[in-house]
Amino acid sequence: MTAPPTGRVLVLNCGSSSIKYRLYDGDLTVDGGRVVDGGLVERIGEEGGGPADHAAALQDLMGRLDLGELTAVGHRVVHGGLRFSAPTVIDDDVVAAIEALVPLAPLHNPANLAGITVARRLLPDTPQVAVFDTAFHRTLPEAAATYAIDRAVTQEYGIHRYGFHGTSHAYVSRRTAALLGRAYEDVNVITLHLGNGASACAVAGGRSVATSMGLSPLEGLVMGTRSGDIDPAIVFHLQRNAGMSVDEIDHLLNHRSGLFGLCGANDMREVLRRRAAGDPAAALAFDVYCRRITAYVGAYYALLGRVDAITFTAGIGENAADVRAAALANLERLGIAVSPERNATGAGERIISPEGAEVAVCVVPTDEEREIATQTLLAVSRAP
Ligand code: AMP
Repeated sequence: MTAPPTGRVLVLNCGSSSIKYRLYDGDLTVDGGRVVDGGLVERIGEEGGGPADHAAALQDLMGRLDLGELTAVGHRVVHGGLRFSAPTVIDDDVVAAIEALVPLAPLHNPANLAGITVARRLLPDTPQVAVFDTAFHRTLPEAAATYAIDRAVTQEYGIHRYGFHGTSHAYVSRRTAALLGRAYEDVNVITLHLGNGASACAVAGGRSVATSMGLSPLEGLVMGTRSGDIDPAIVFHLQRNAGMSVDEIDHLLNHRSGLFGLCGANDMREVLRRRAAGDPAAALAFDVYCRRITAYVGAYYALLGRVDAITFTAGIGENAADVRAAALANLERLGIAVSPERNATGAGERIISPEGAEVAVCVVPTDEEREIATQTLLAVSRAP
């Protein structure tokens, strides 16, 4: 790459019933570019509501946006399997590969593909780039990515720790190095993405070496409605003794578990309110949630050997000071502490550990769309 990537980029993040979009212009690597437009189209395909399907929604959207001089379109794609370790300019072969990964991400990849198909049809001369949630984790050592299950079975069925939220972990760990005034290659960071979905990542010198989500986004930390780690025997137990089908157990663990399953609220703000009002179920949900984070921090500390920073991001990580304090309580022996004053105040990228602490504890707001735009321009500038 000779010149810094400059241009106008449309970022599309297509979910099953929504499309989040941002239009950027300018130099994305130097000043972060400018958000020209952006928003959220919701209730796609719902009765009596929004657009009939992704095609209708995108057609309408692209008619409204000023797409003159568009350099590229960047698409968020959840699952890139083992093939995609970097943002990739989309052609028919890439589309077929994303389609082939649908069994591994049945909720996400079809919606991502719908966006790609329509955008390619409407903007046939504009390069389109797929930015994968899994790509950042393709650097996981084999021992981190391998499940201890019969190798013949895991290999035949693609059972592997793929990891997710990669765009966020990459962005936030890079920003953390900048916040510390250090070279990305020189720092070890534990990133904690705590939003509706939640995952932890150990980043050594810019490379993901451990992450809590696995084959799917169900594993790892406690989430809004997902259980995170459980004993897999719970699944057999429920099937044999509660007469639940695989689909019912899938629904239970993905939609009726986590904070919601524990106390009836999946929004951390509501959990915190109820806990403050003395609700024991909310207090337990909070404790289960924070304890899981503590356990992952300890595990990743051991794997990294040296930790320069621990960084909180996403809705809960950026806003819930009580979660940050509880998750990192009593870790002074590991050089980890949170300053109550710094934790309670401030906004934007900041350090919340006491002055001179061995491990910097940081808050870095994530910006997945901006990172997708940057990666899109880089992929286009690298393409032959
Ligand atoms: P995200 O997926 O990153 O948008 O995060 C969404 C979650 O962030 C919501 O479910 C809330 O539980 C949480 N959240 C947002 N704002 C706050 C806040 N001020 N305090 C605590 N939690 C918050």
